[in-house]
Amino acid sequence: MNDTSPVIEIKNLHKAFGELEVLKGVDITARRGDVVSLIGSSGSGKSTLLRCCNLLEDSQQGEILFKGEPVAWKGTGSHRHPGDAKQVLRIRTNLAMVFQQFNLWAHMTILQNVMEAPVTVLGRDKAEVEASARRYLEQVGIGDKCDAYPAQLSGGQQQRAAIARALCMEPEALLFDEPTSALDPELEQEVIRVIKDLAAEGRTMIIVTHDMKMAADISSHVVFLHHGKIEEEGSAKDVFGSPSSERLKGFLSATQAA
Ligand code: ADP
Ligand code: MG
Repeated sequence: MNDTSPVIEIKNLHKAFGELEVLKGVDITARRGDVVSLIGSSGSGKSTLLRCCNLLEDSQQGEILFKGEPVAWKGTGSHRHPGDAKQVLRIRTNLAMVFQQFNLWAHMTILQNVMEAPVTVLGRDKAEVEASARRYLEQVGIGDKCDAYPAQLSGGQQQRAAIARALCMEPEALLFDEPTSALDPELEQEVIRVIKDLAAEGRTMIIVTHDMKMAADISSHVVFLHHGKIEEEGSAKDVFGSPSSERLKGFLSATQAA
């Protein structure tokens, strides 16, 4: 089976915080197996776009579709909200998010952190969830840390635990928001390796990243956001190898010089 149907489709999305227009008509599609990287300067709207995808943020105009199913809105403009709580839960649990700051529960062991949402939110069988939690922790290379608490782990290990926690939801896609930017350079690499393995597995992912090398290595599609609009997009080869917009050229030379 070679299913390349869309998992996430964003069409003409507009989002403002009060008077501040942050997304000004953005279109993005992630098909099954796609790795879409979102790049752009700080403040360009990358995190907001990612958070709109899994309905952590409301948006005022445009469509969001999950596996072809449009979000059912109630109201319009600044009064627009998702109207179907079950649909919101389905979308949110299927688009598992990995944050820059890991967001693990400090009072729970690593295993408990990974098991928490599948058991309490999805109501899955505890023994089965434990077995898959251990498997995912093994996969990200910290199978020996099940009984440790987050504070006993390095940043790189905590982020890998957060990735295992996302995987344990058995989501349709993973959304990463700058997953390596809180880490020291040597710890960044261990997280990048895990993300590369997930890409090679054919996982559907949208990744906000400042790491142009990783984006170049794993992306099937790269999107450059500038002031809430897509300034340029294309294959990693084209976006990094022969950028056409002056803004993208400037952004790339600034990040490569850094
Ligand atoms: P990026 O992730 O590309 O750095 P963000 O999506 O975080 O950008 O932010 C885009 C713009 O939206 C910025 O100007 C930021 O200050 C603003 N913004 C983000 N979140 C909020 C919020 N909750 N309330 C008001 N403004 C916000
Ligand atoms: Mg951000």
